[in-house]
Amino acid sequence: MGRKGLGVFVVSFFFVSFFFSSSLPAAEIGQGVKITYLGHAAFKLVSAQGVVIYIDPYLKNNPQTPPEHKEVDKADLILITHGHGDHLGDAVAIAQKTNASAVAMAELATYLTQKGLKNVVRMNKGGSYTAKGIRVTLVNAQHSSSVTEEGRVIYTGEPGGFIIRFENGFTVYHAGDTAVMADMKIFGDIYKPNLALLPIGSHFTMDPVEAAYACQLLRPQFAIPMHYKTFPVLTGTPEAFLQAMKDQPGVKVLVINPGQTIE
Ligand code: ZN
Repeated sequence: MGRKGLGVFVVSFFFVSFFFSSSLPAAEIGQGVKITYLGHAAFKLVSAQGVVIYIDPYLKNNPQTPPEHKEVDKADLILITHGHGDHLGDAVAIAQKTNASAVAMAELATYLTQKGLKNVVRMNKGGSYTAKGIRVTLVNAQHSSSVTEEGRVIYTGEPGGFIIRFENGFTVYHAGDTAVMADMKIFGDIYKPNLALLPIGSHFTMDPVEAAYACQLLRPQFAIPMHYKTFPVLTGTPEAFLQAMKDQPGVKVLVINPGQTIE
């Protein structure tokens, strides 16, 4: 095959693979794991065995969360990336109501204990915790972390991201709030995430171009943009992320609306 022929072959291969991946049965994306986007950085993940995980459950005051997802009746694990209100959200109330374990960085965990939570899992970066066959690793994020109460700033340790490996091996990386960072190459090498949940809004986090660079380092099969549109200062858009990702055909970008579930 000549150079030109190879080019046509490559282009048509990418077209076919893109078309094919777009029409994959839903079950092949999450391999039995249901992923629901709740707006901003909030996600609900349900394992094939029915274990319910909430990540950064900012729901009640989240303008992006659909009304039917504002109340939580069942949760097993609540993962909180850092103390900022748009991530800690309703974690305390949900944990009290459902008896779920709240998983967080050590200082944030102490704060949660002081709020009266009984099931708190204190972690630190690089550490993993396994519950009901699901392994949760707290990893680095380039950001800050605090809670503001009555005008006072309370330190809640360093911020993090989470790598969640399900019973069947399906692995999700939730980046939390972060800048792009070289550590993402290490996450890609060690944990090989199938799905990356990445902030793209800019101002407080990565923007679409930086999130696309993060995908080069992480090399996931799927990427879902998050942390955009909630507040006017978040200017990064899914369209700009798709544009920035156009030379990474190996990563399928899934733009999903709050309330939408993929399997
Ligand atoms: Zn934050």
